Amino acid sequence: MENIIIIGTGCAGYTAAIYAARANLKPLILAGNLPGGQLTTTTEVENFPGFPQGIMGPELMMNMQAQAERFGTRIEYASVSKVAKAVAGHFEITTEDGVVREARAVIVATGASPRHLGLPDERQLIGHGLTSCATCDGAFYRNVPVCVIGGGDSACEEASFLTKFASTVYLIHRRDELRASKIMADRALANPKIKPVWNSTVAEYLTDDKGEMRAVKLKNLVSGEESELEVKCVFVAIGHIPNAQFLGGLVDLDESGYIVQTRGTLTKTEGLFAAGDVADHVYRQAITAAGQGCASALEAERYLAAIGVH
Ligand code: NAP
Repeated sequence: MENIIIIGTGCAGYTAAIYAARANLKPLILAGNLPGGQLTTTTEVENFPGFPQGIMGPELMMNMQAQAERFGTRIEYASVSKVAKAVAGHFEITTEDGVVREARAVIVATGASPRHLGLPDERQLIGHGLTSCATCDGAFYRNVPVCVIGGGDSACEEASFLTKFASTVYLIHRRDELRASKIMADRALANPKIKPVWNSTVAEYLTDDKGEMRAVKLKNLVSGEESELEVKCVFVAIGHIPNAQFLGGLVDLDESGYIVQTRGTLTKTEGLFAAGDVADHVYRQAITAAGQGCASALEAERYLAAIGVH
């Protein structure tokens, strides 16, 4: 029986592990499909305190992992498919390979996954000109036109990054004003390679005879007019879906699928804590996720002490 299992290895999961390990709780982390979380798919992080010159996202996550392991955190690479609470009060955590692990407390720090538009044949197009990771795929599209869908910080960041490679980056947004922070929006709009396409949505992905992205069918939401825009790759940056579905009735989810925290990082199930983007629909920053990771470990420590684990 583990004292504590932390599910997820983003900022929240690693910070929880650092605190739990330093409290001698010997935490086990289960890393899912994207070890290191969302920051491993980004470039420079300019707003994480302590790095005045910025730090690359993957490097920041490797540092957090090393810090967690330094104090005795163990990491296993297995995706969790189910968490249940046994009658005896402990948790049973089942991974996709069918293995069941037991723990007295669980911290869910599974983050959120990129949202897609829900157009037909979308799944088959991923990797063939449809992606949500500019850092991973941008360099494949040199001197060709591409587009980014979305109007938030992610869309602006991805669009700015893609100008290193693409001939033109169309920024397709459903309104005529960006949601992104002023600094990110100004930076993107000042870049001559970025061409905003306002009040528009992508109605269809159009492929060539090899099944690769050739163009998108645009719909202007004000005039209703449809047009075709030639792009070799579409980068979707329209937000994320929290990874909380595997928890069944142990937690309540809000209307967008985020875990409802009853107080701080507590959930409706005693001994089960939620931290970071899987529960936070307001701030969704690396530093706030790390803060919640810390809080969840302190709460788990208190819970374990109350049931006699020191
Ligand atoms: P976001 O802020 O939720 O923005 C999502 C964008 O996608 C919005 O512009 C939204 O349009 C659009 N959208 C949503 N659903 C759509 C649909 N079905 N069709 C077309 N467009 C759709 O998400 P995000 O940009 O991923 O940012 C998430 C959080 O991370 C934010 O808190 C952000 O500040 C943070 N972040 C920070 C940085 C940084 O500081 N370095 C970088 C990236 C992200 P509307 O505007 O019309 O709603």
